[in-house]
Amino acid sequence: MRPLIPLYQPDLSGKERQYVLECIDTAWISSRGDFKARFENAFADYVGVPYAVSVNNGTTALHLALHCLGIGPGDEVIVPTLTYIASVNTIKQTGAIPVFAEVNHGDWELDPADIRRRVTSKTKAVMAVHLYGAVCDMHTIGEIARQHNLMVIEDCAEALGSTFAGQHVGNFGDVACFSFYGNKTLTTGEGGMVVTRKASLAERLRLVCNHGQSPTRRYWHIELGFNYRMTNICAALGLAQIERLPATVTRKRAVAQRYRQALADSRVTMQQLHSEACSGEWLMSVLLPADVDRDCTMEALAGAGIETRPVFACAHEMPMYYREQHFPIAEEISRRGISLPSFPALTNDEITYIARRLTQLLLRNRAVEVIAEG
Ligand SMILES: *Cc1c(COP(=O)(O)O)cnc(C)c1O
Repeated sequence: MRPLIPLYQPDLSGKERQYVLECIDTAWISSRGDFKARFENAFADYVGVPYAVSVNNGTTALHLALHCLGIGPGDEVIVPTLTYIASVNTIKQTGAIPVFAEVNHGDWELDPADIRRRVTSKTKAVMAVHLYGAVCDMHTIGEIARQHNLMVIEDCAEALGSTFAGQHVGNFGDVACFSFYGNKTLTTGEGGMVVTRKASLAERLRLVCNHGQSPTRRYWHIELGFNYRMTNICAALGLAQIERLPATVTRKRAVAQRYRQALADSRVTMQQLHSEACSGEWLMSVLLPADVDRDCTMEALAGAGIETRPVFACAHEMPMYYREQHFPIAEEISRRGISLPSFPALTNDEITYIARRLTQLLLRNRAVEVIAEG
């Protein structure tokens, strides 16, 4: 059998080893050390924001951001039901109420018209999740936020390299969060970043992520804080990764482009992009035809050595958030969607192979169905 093509594989072929060994040789392995500021500065430059605060994962990035915006009990935050669970959990963890919203049929992103319908006097913020590297309509979401005096948090965990109207994501909200988990476009193993254009917010993020310790007096804690700090070892990995990030994003775009061509005549439906958006192409994600059993298709692909994964389940269907509510578009995407292997070292031959197997499988299903229909 062919060796398994994994869904994701980080590329650590640059200066990762050298920088991590520097941490070990100098014994700066904890959350202080040179790599922290170097990585934060390089990251802020790449995204085009003045401030970047490193943290220990993407989930703590979101929780820290929400907390520092002052979101808490009694507040409502609008969030798409189709997202990774961390977007929703972190709202709940502040004591606020996640209010679910529907996504667009074409690009799977938060539907601005549905945001309008869900705004109440308690709504404090909107969490715009840029899902799978595609981008929310930040013009319209910004307009709604201004009209109703709402804050905007961008969950950019899946959107490093993505832009809207020529600007990198993370520039549109009051605050934006990134994840550096092992399968994200840039990885530090576990890690995250909060970025903002506001100096006062950046200062508060730094303080709260370090136990609320006064920047001028040690062991003097001026407000409730957390320990969400990134280690210098993670920052060393991050710096090595960001040095190659433009090349990584270029390759990921080429991978996605090749998939689109190779799957053009198949029965899958591609995730679309807003006309102002350019995707960093985190994960190539498609909808299988409605008449096809998703899980059987994934199993057949696994049998052919191709690892895939289902699109996220809807949060409103999970036990802790269950409501008698329906989001037909999100539910359908969640039921029919799969993500395909999308890492930069994926070869063109592998993409061709994956696309051919998937196309054939869907043809065979159709043939079976045609026979069944007589
Ligand atoms: C990965 C991810 C996160 C959380 O990141 P971790 O680093 O795994 O904690 C948050 N939101 C979305 C949309 C993600 O994909």
